[in-house]
Amino acid sequence: MTGRFPSPPSRDRVRPDVAVVGAGPIGLSIAWRCAARGLRVVVHDPAPGSGASAVAAGMLSPVAEAYFGERQLTELLLASAERWPGFAAELTEVTGVDIGYRTEGTLMVGLTGDDLAEARRLWAYQQGLGLPVTPLRPSELRDREPALAPRVRGGALAPTDHQVDPRLLVPALRAAAQQAGAVLVSHAVRRLSDVDARVTVVAAGCGAAALTGLPVRPVKGQILRLRAPDGVAPGFRHVIRGYADGEPVYLVPRVDGEVVLGATVEERADTTVTAGAVQRLLRAGVDLLPELAEYDLVEAVAGLRPGTPDNAPILGPLPGRPDVLVATGHHRHGIVLAPITADLIADLVLDGVSDPLLAPFRADRFLGLTPGGSPDRSTEGDQWS
Ligand SMILES: Cc1cc2nc3c(=O)[nH]c(=O)nc-3n(C[C@H](O)[C@H](O)[C@H](O)COP(=O)(O)OP(=O)(O)OC[C@H]3O[C@@H](n4cnc5c(N)ncnc54)[C@H](O)[C@@H]3O)c2cc1C
Repeated sequence: MTGRFPSPPSRDRVRPDVAVVGAGPIGLSIAWRCAARGLRVVVHDPAPGSGASAVAAGMLSPVAEAYFGERQLTELLLASAERWPGFAAELTEVTGVDIGYRTEGTLMVGLTGDDLAEARRLWAYQQGLGLPVTPLRPSELRDREPALAPRVRGGALAPTDHQVDPRLLVPALRAAAQQAGAVLVSHAVRRLSDVDARVTVVAAGCGAAALTGLPVRPVKGQILRLRAPDGVAPGFRHVIRGYADGEPVYLVPRVDGEVVLGATVEERADTTVTAGAVQRLLRAGVDLLPELAEYDLVEAVAGLRPGTPDNAPILGPLPGRPDVLVATGHHRHGIVLAPITADLIADLVLDGVSDPLLAPFRADRFLGLTPGGSPDRSTEGDQWS
């Protein structure tokens, strides 16, 4: 094995081959893949799984989230989504944990004529990229999901956009990493110079800014969890996302009766839940699926997505520090991007080989920007997750 991080794995009995900073879905996936390939891995995190993933909806939506001006990101999302079936199956096989991976697909809907016009603009763009988006007549929509409000004007099916439950996924990743030999240390890394390993991978979500100086900023998302009464499954099977009177909203049904209803996208760093956001989310959700009005409201919570100035992740070497790799800035997509991030960062650690897919996401595209970066306010209000 050759590469830019020399020495064969596991000969040095003292020094880890890889130190991963951050035990969210990204850090744990990387730790799992590296440990499974024979590297000695230590993961540092004072509170594993406590970052954005603790509140995330878990949509795996490269098609519904193919937005204007994000072509390279869309390619990465699609490539990662392709790996999800194998990733989920392997994770379940090695841990025995059901991670709530569901493949019913996603319905994209518009409540009013204006909502539908807005949604159709995006579907046309997505179809232009050759993505599987099938417009449905209102009757076809209702055949698929009879619980949709009669007012819903129209929709389209994205049959390959799926979901997973991040609250099951992250503990499973932790178990898989540990089973493969990774060691978790309950410890916050304050400076990269405090970490002793041949390679350090910074996968600390929003915490990466302070460690690397890269422009990663918190993007607040408020989100609700509801539960169908009497422990039954929700009255719909697809992930449903759309606009309701101009409000972007999504609904993610779980088999255990939970429905995740989200989410705001706010350029703020606090995790306060506000009455206005809860009201807007509930109104939009109930307008699309009236039966939600009878559900229990069990949780209202906010998390901080690790955003970057161009909304795309930062993957690869930290400029000026060839012994440090960065895997952060996954913003709205850290769950769907976990498999490809893990595989390609593990390749980089083991073989020093950078997959061409990583080229647009190198850290050096932000050289000269300060931590926190310049927020891209175009995301506010018109995108989800
Ligand atoms: C409301 C909401 C909904 C979302 N929905 C979706 C969705 O449907 N699909 C999707 O793909 N993504 C979604 N996301 C985004 C997704 O949650 C994130 O992109 C993902 O969690 C990023 O993973 P991560 O491991 O990089 O960071 P995080 O999940 O934030 O984890 C970072 C970890 O690093 C640790 N850490 C931080 N600093 C340090 C330090 N100095 N030393 C040691 N450890 C440190 C933290 O304790 C934490 O455990 C959503 C996010 C939000 C907020």
